[in-house]
Amino acid sequence: MADTVQYWVRNFVDGAYTEPNETSGYDNIDPATGATLGRVHAADTALVDRAVTSARRALTSWAKTPVAERAALLRRAADRIEERFEEFVAAEVADTGKPITQARLLDVRRAPQNFRSFADIVAAAGQESFITETGDGRRALNYAVRKPLGVVAVIVPWNLPLLLLTWKVAPALACGNAVVVKPSEETPSTATLLAEVLAEVGLPAGVFNVVHGCGGVGEFLTRHAGIDGVTFTGSSATGTRVMSAVAPRVRPVSFELGGKNAAVVFEDADLDETLDGLARSVFTNTGQVCLCTERVYVHRDIFDEIANGLIARASALTLGRPTDDATTTGPLISQAHRDKVLRYFELAEREGAELLVGGGVPDLGAELNGGFWIEPTLWTGLTNDATTVREEIFGPVAALIPFSDENEAIGLANDTDYGLAASVWTNDLRRGHRVAQAMNVGMSWVNTWFLRDLRSPFGGMGLSGLGREGGASSLHFYTDPTNVCVQL
Ligand code: NDP
Repeated sequence: MADTVQYWVRNFVDGAYTEPNETSGYDNIDPATGATLGRVHAADTALVDRAVTSARRALTSWAKTPVAERAALLRRAADRIEERFEEFVAAEVADTGKPITQARLLDVRRAPQNFRSFADIVAAAGQESFITETGDGRRALNYAVRKPLGVVAVIVPWNLPLLLLTWKVAPALACGNAVVVKPSEETPSTATLLAEVLAEVGLPAGVFNVVHGCGGVGEFLTRHAGIDGVTFTGSSATGTRVMSAVAPRVRPVSFELGGKNAAVVFEDADLDETLDGLARSVFTNTGQVCLCTERVYVHRDIFDEIANGLIARASALTLGRPTDDATTTGPLISQAHRDKVLRYFELAEREGAELLVGGGVPDLGAELNGGFWIEPTLWTGLTNDATTVREEIFGPVAALIPFSDENEAIGLANDTDYGLAASVWTNDLRRGHRVAQAMNVGMSWVNTWFLRDLRSPFGGMGLSGLGREGGASSLHFYTDPTNVCVQL
């Protein structure tokens, strides 16, 4: 086998690709067809160890590199990603099966934006300082010097691979850290391409390392004594395991762990704008975005109109070849994930759901039927007690539930173990602010969804995560302050 296998995706350690070890690889599967795209070289513990060691070595001088130089390098990286834009798009589409239009407009477009934004944010950042006046007449100057956290383990998921990777790596590098990245086994390619780009624009060897694996690599990395902090996006269950992995060494973690996000639709909402926004929030990326809406609470007076409008929009989605411009909706990421989503579809039926649309696996013809396709799905007839209304499904599906007044809507939306995002749809200005603020979530939108400013805090409450990233929040996570007190 070793002679015939072509390893398409390699690990990147200490500034170079490593030679594949023929005994440890796994297939990279195209979710749109189920076909094998190539092989991924899985890192063994010795290679992860080497990645961490090289990161520690590189950290010493990268941490001392002037901020302006680090910011300039990030801007060069943004330029280079744009020059190689279509390569990133092709890799992301092949790994995820997402529609090419989305990869261009959202996923890959955001990568240079992340690098430029954090170059600007770090370059403009000041330090806190205070003049202290004690009761006995002494005065002192206090100021905090922010130092890089150190070597950061970056564990990123398969749903928005490059977007979420650069969202973490850009501030980490801007703040002077070295990183060891563990991409999802489902989507190894764009992280690997990014390693190449960062080397091309002059990032010193060892500052950015990528190690692949499908079981055990993530845990070994987070338990490693050379890791100073972990940033992770993924499931709440894995988040708790990462937490226990770093607990013995008391290292900081930053977690974004998904959600069971609510939309609240009031009777005075602009119907067309709301329906377009709701459809986007339920079905974007086949529902595989942590911010996606899975619970839609609708005022009774407009329940039927919203239900019918959403059914029409779900029915109008185009499932098809990801590389076709007309395709709006791709497959789920894997067979295992589709099995999980289909189990929730069966459970919803047992829990008394009335199926409004979808509910099964579409027939897309011979070319695509080996892929992990699923129909955009809407339910009504469920209540907040249902498991399908409480647990994150992570597919193109939502439950529509009626409410009678504002307090009931707030109570229903907040009745969850998660707390990532919410959207409120109303033309009443004061109610919009009031309800958005009452949502127990990290991000609350009014009359929109997934509109982001990279300077604002991003993250969740409860099972949705720990800490915030974005703007100053990223600077706080990726640095450690030393407070200096000088008596005057
Ligand atoms: P997980 O959230 O379980 O994460 C898997 C990744 O974490 C792999 O890279 C794995 O590395 C690593 N990992 C696993 N265990 C540990 C550990 N103890 N310490 C450190 N790293 C570890 O992803 P799944 O793909 O299995 O997704 C499961 C569910 O998560 C989805 O169904 C969805 O509900 C949710 N999800 C949420 C996302 C979000 O944006 N919040 C994104 C994607 C998924 P290794 O392979 O080496 O073990």
